[in-house]
Amino acid sequence: MASPPFITHAFAGNPLDRASDRRSDSEWLARRLEAPGARALVFWQGQPLLRPGPQLAFIDGAMAARLDPAGERLLFLGLDGADAVFALDMEGEADPALGPLQGLGEFSEMRAAAQALPIPDTGLMSASRSLFEWRRRHRYCSVCGHASTVIDGGWKRLCPSCKAEHFPRVDPCVIMLPVHGERCLVGRQAAWVVNRYSALAGFLEPGESIEEACAREVKEEAGLTVTAVHYRSSQPWPYPSNLMIGLVAEVADDQATPDLTELEAVKWLTKNQARALVDGTLPDTTAPPPFAIAHSLIRDWAES
Ligand SMILES: [Zn+2]
Repeated sequence: MASPPFITHAFAGNPLDRASDRRSDSEWLARRLEAPGARALVFWQGQPLLRPGPQLAFIDGAMAARLDPAGERLLFLGLDGADAVFALDMEGEADPALGPLQGLGEFSEMRAAAQALPIPDTGLMSASRSLFEWRRRHRYCSVCGHASTVIDGGWKRLCPSCKAEHFPRVDPCVIMLPVHGERCLVGRQAAWVVNRYSALAGFLEPGESIEEACAREVKEEAGLTVTAVHYRSSQPWPYPSNLMIGLVAEVADDQATPDLTELEAVKWLTKNQARALVDGTLPDTTAPPPFAIAHSLIRDWAES
């Protein structure tokens, strides 16, 4: 399975046919789950089950059906040719890898897994994790409070009382590299690992365009006035369900003043320094990890 050529970031690149026109057919889904070749990846507490390598560990469809007879924790990810691929969310405090899934793998922290797995697999993981988080947080109808039921292979919830339909949410964030002439600005938050510097970021607010959110965040966090915004690429960020919108923001001057609440420090870097940052050779300054969109924003600008 391969991702489209324009996908360059981890957590995107789900290579499956999502078959969104078929997944509302519960009988079709049940047949696909029973068919030979059906398989499911497994999550527990937000962590994927991995085999040594690492590789994603899959169980067959029959086993997934046994582990979740009601299908409430089963998500239809899509079709790989004729084979249906699902994800199963395990519940409970006890590690299922020591119970019903013994010998099939271990549950592993997803960020570390994302750095080791091929991009198509990271896309499968991010869709699963975001949908399972949504399932856990949206069990009740937000209109009338009644318990809702899962439909469409996990991609929709329906309130049996008021008939409201609920869809998984995606929360957009802008992440931007301010640039002025031949220098870019990176900042650090106090909570980050020592010496980590990265692009600036923030959530879009309702009624705000991407460009407006970018300009507001750069002004709030660094005191700089944005004069132009350039879109670069985007990355799903499944913690729990963000979309990082990667931008380069031209700013009017270099008089940056970190707000000291979100940012404790900022640095202007030349292109050579920015390249050294992402190469890991800039003294006392470390970059975001290569699988994060911020790393690409800095590298792509430094090499432009
Ligand atoms: Zn309702």
